[in-house]
Order: sequence, then C-alpha cells, then structure tokens
Amino acid sequence: MEQAIIVTVRHEKEDRDWSAEDLLAELRELAISSGVKISTEVIAKCSRFSPRYLIGEGKVGEIASIAEEKNSNVVIFNHDLSGTQQRNLEETLNIKTIDRTQLILDIFAQRAHSKEGKIQVELAQLVYLLPRLVGKGIILSRLGGGIGTSGPGEKKLEIDRRKIREKITRLKRDLEDATRQRDARRKNRERFSASTIAIVGYTNTGKSTLFNALTNAGVYVMDKLFSTLDPTVRKYILPNNQRVVFSDTVGFIHNLPHHLIESFKATLEEAVQADILIHVIDISHPKVLEHNKAVHGVLAELGIENKPVINVLNKKDKVEDEIMLSGIKRYFDSPIIISALKKEGLDDLIDRLITELSSFMTDIKVTLSHNDMGKYNIIHEYGEVLKEEYREDSIYIEAKVPLRLKTMFF
Ligand code: GDP
Ligand code: MG
Repeated sequence: MEQAIIVTVRHEKEDRDWSAEDLLAELRELAISSGVKISTEVIAKCSRFSPRYLIGEGKVGEIASIAEEKNSNVVIFNHDLSGTQQRNLEETLNIKTIDRTQLILDIFAQRAHSKEGKIQVELAQLVYLLPRLVGKGIILSRLGGGIGTSGPGEKKLEIDRRKIREKITRLKRDLEDATRQRDARRKNRERFSASTIAIVGYTNTGKSTLFNALTNAGVYVMDKLFSTLDPTVRKYILPNNQRVVFSDTVGFIHNLPHHLIESFKATLEEAVQADILIHVIDISHPKVLEHNKAVHGVLAELGIENKPVINVLNKKDKVEDEIMLSGIKRYFDSPIIISALKKEGLDDLIDRLITELSSFMTDIKVTLSHNDMGKYNIIHEYGEVLKEEYREDSIYIEAKVPLRLKTMFF
C-alpha cells in the first residue's frame, strides 16, 4: 500500500466557509477511498498562491523532510496544481505529487464499471495529463505506478504524448459507439423489466455497505448475468415478488472540479436510468447538511432531481444523542433511519420501496389459453399473482405486474 502525505491548502479568502480541519477531513476521506495509507497530514494556510509551488517554500521544505523521514511514496494536495507547480514540487520533493483532480480521477477509474463510464474516465485522465507531459519529472513518477496512474479496469495510463493523442481520438469514437450500444441494451433490459433502484449519496456515507446488506440478505437471488458483468448491479426479489435491480454508485464529492463533471456523470449512468433513488445520508457526519446540498446540486445537474427519492439516514448507531437525531430528521422528507452496518431498519426501507414502487405496478386480469405459457411464466416471474383459477381450457389470473410489461404483453 502506498504511504501518502496529504496536504490541505486553505486559502483565506476562497475557502471561507470551510475550516482547515473540514478540508483536511474531506481530503482524508478521499485519500482513503483511493486506497492509500496516510502517513502524515499537513495543513498549509495561504493568503496567496505561489505560481512556483502553490504553497510557500518553507512548507515545501517541511514536506520534503517528512517525505524522507517517513519514506512516503506520494504527496496528495487538496488543491489543483498547474503543470509547472506539479513539476516543481516533484523535483524539489523528489516524490510523486498529485492533486485533487488526479485523486478523484483515480477513484473514478477504480469505480467506473460501465463501458461508457470507463471510456469517459480514461478520456478525462488523458486530457488532464497531456499538457503536463513536459519535463521528465511527471513521466518518471508516472512509471512508478500506484495512485494517480491507474486507468479504468486493470490498465495503466499511457505516458507517451503521441500515443496519448491517438488514444484520445480513438476513445472519443469508442464513446459514441458505446452510447449507441447502451441504448440498445437498455431497450432490451426494459423488455423484461425489473424496476431499477440506484443508491446514491455523498462519498463514505455507507452506500456500498447498504447495497451489500440488502442484496446479501437471504431472500435475494443473485442474477448470474448481472453479478458477473458488473459487481455494482444486483437483482433482488422483494417480498411481494417484485423484481428490482439495485445499483451502487460512486460517491458525490463537494466542489467537484467542473471539468470532471462529465466523467463523474458517466459513473452515475445507473442513477440517471433508475426509476427510484435511494439517497444514503451519513447522519453522524458533522457536515451532513452541506453534503445533502452538494448531492442535490449534482442531481439537478444530471437533470434527475425530480425522480422519486427515498431519504435513508444511515449510521444511526453512531448517533447517541436523540435530540440531535430528531433535529437532523426534520431536514429530510419522510426519512428512513437505519444502520447499514448493523443491518437495522432495513425492513422499513424495503416496505417503503414496495410502496414507492407500487406506482410502477398495475393490476391485470387475464384469461390465458394453454398455448400462452410464455405469458403465464412472465406473470409469475415478474408479477405478484393475486388469484389464479384453472378452468377447462384456460387459466384465469389476477396479478400485479410492472407497468411496462402490461403495455408490452397484455
Ligand atoms: P460508500 O462510500 O458510501 O460506499 O460507503 P461505504 O459503504 O464504503 O462505507 C464507508 C464507511 O462507513 C465504512 O467504514 C463502513 O463500515 C462505514 N459504515 C457504513 N454504514 C455504517 C453504519 O450504519 N454504521 C457505522 N458505524 N458505520 C457504517
Ligand atoms: Mg461505495
């Protein structure tokens, strides 16, 4: 595991709403999400940024001696670095130096699962790297591997300038193809549609823990196709026999650099397509309301702020103060309170899902001939059968089925 020094730069004017400690906490969470081990945390307060190093030379010297003493592999800044700043820092510190954008892109690269998402992230990485490939510093440090160098999937990033240009052109073409294929695939999936539920929320709120808690509970049936294709999409059968597909998404991040929004959106493709969102909120986090605001900002940017949302307040086991809990509760519309870790409150969540999803279900009453076994099976697989009568040469069924199935078959 890479040993990282994380450096929080706080600009007295730009970051007025955030204390140095808040910024540090955020960088810490991001760094841990990316899979490094933090050996030292440094705070640098500035009233102006230096074009040479971003931060003052004194601080750079301090970081250099920490890096040597702790045998660190990487320095991570919470602020964007220009190509020159990054190069100067790498040369002076003699260690790989990455900024917030690269850190976030690295996290996206590890978590983008759809083909489109992977291409988007790789494109963003290459576009980011290209103007920075001047001196030898960055090239050498990139070769070392580790954080800041991972491409989507198992790949390493290209570091040759000419190859990068060619790659960018190729990726842009691939992206168009992938978008077309995705639309075709989605149509196919809708045919046998389960309703889709995307788990969204700020980074580190417990989305993946909830995803696993829900889908590993005894009642679900792992769909082989989904589970092998994509570890973040799983099928689940609700107690009323309704099929749903859960997808886990990458976390939202406060102040996402604007040029990353496209690749971020690609990692949220599942949320854009979903019927319902589960918004996981960490109520033990001191910045819970700011997080909520950030998430809603991104949902609006994706044009999905009007989708049905279930607000799930997670980590209730960490909040002992009842008064504080009821205070937070008031900020959210009909919240469900759970502990994903302790698997508490999940039944309430499932009940709410069934209620929300009922608007995607409709009643049918059909009489099927014995030649209609195809339809019979579809009703049983995707619907909730309320009544079934075997008649002389037909079967009479009353059932609730997904709306889309009704328009397609009945
Ligand atoms: P994600 O980034 O939203 O997917 O968050 P994760 O599911 O990876 O969880 C982030 C951290 O929060 C992990 O250390 C989890 O163990 C922890 N966590 C998740 N749910 C709970 C909970 O209900 N209670 C407590 N105490 N910790 C939780
Ligand atoms: Mg997660």
